[in-house]
Amino acid sequence: MSALRFERVALIGIGLIGSSLARVLRRDGLAGEIVACARQAATLDAVRRLGLADRVTAEAADAARDADLVMICTPLSAYAAIGRAIAPVLKPGAIVSDVGSVKGAVVRELKPLLPPGVHLVPGHPVAGTEHSGPEAGFAEMFHDRWCILTPLPDGDADALERVGALWRAAGMKVVTMDAEHHDKVLAITSHLPHLIAYTIVGTATDLEDTLKSEVIKFSAGGFRDFTRIAASDPVMWRDVFLNNREAVLEMLQRFTEDLTALQRAIRWGEGDKLQELFTRTRAIRRSIIEAKQA
Ligand code: NAP
Repeated sequence: MSALRFERVALIGIGLIGSSLARVLRRDGLAGEIVACARQAATLDAVRRLGLADRVTAEAADAARDADLVMICTPLSAYAAIGRAIAPVLKPGAIVSDVGSVKGAVVRELKPLLPPGVHLVPGHPVAGTEHSGPEAGFAEMFHDRWCILTPLPDGDADALERVGALWRAAGMKVVTMDAEHHDKVLAITSHLPHLIAYTIVGTATDLEDTLKSEVIKFSAGGFRDFTRIAASDPVMWRDVFLNNREAVLEMLQRFTEDLTALQRAIRWGEGDKLQELFTRTRAIRRSIIEAKQA
């Protein structure tokens, strides 16, 4: 058996991210057996139709029994119930990992529920789209993107290595950091941009009807890009903000101060200040393109 291959992988939740991982496992033959768990019959039917798993079930415990790797790929609000359901059936030495967009809360919620001898390796593949469900997934999603693992200080080194190797096989660059740092970085790179997009699209939605139709018509002026982000899954994003409250509020405070400064610059006609900021931000875009993250 190659060190990379898992005998049985349980995917608890098989939407955009879970199904993309299933496609990688299938493509590269990384799992002897894939068991997928979701709640809705329609999701399980889609998984069968797409051939993403060897077995499907609506019970998390049923999926996790005898699994070497249990990968939780559901919204964060489902974690506690899933942890309680799978804890009694996890085999000694099993690895429990996840793909959630917030990490501190995951560690706090899952760790106390898991029996001794089961290894928790929290993770976050920083890749995705605004779409949901198993049909939306694709194996190439992870290619050249970063995967952040947030191992516990007393975590098992071998389990960390195996999860890292899996994401590397999916084409990701793997980095480790502590959960709190992850949550701060993602608050500014991902969570705040989503909040801003939700706000702008929400504001446009509340405009009077005549203006609203013009917004749609002329959306290519910039609004359109926000609507893509604001089309992201409502449940997933509700959970992100509820679980990363502190870091998001801190970044939002800084953002609000900067926005107020911009407001002032516009009011007082301080073009040099505006131009200086826009020049700096343009350089950020260039460095993202150079880092192949565009
Ligand atoms: P998704 O496409 O909406 O899929 C969610 C899956 O979880 C579905 O299969 C759903 O099953 C299942 N599920 C929900 N509650 C469940 C429960 N209580 N028990 C068992 N299964 C349950 O979501 P996603 O975009 O893949 O996101 C999943 C996770 O990945 C989230 O934690 C998110 O933070 C993280 N993430 C997302 C992105 C992104 O761009 N979307 C990127 C990185 C990380 P049903 O279909 O039966 O409801």
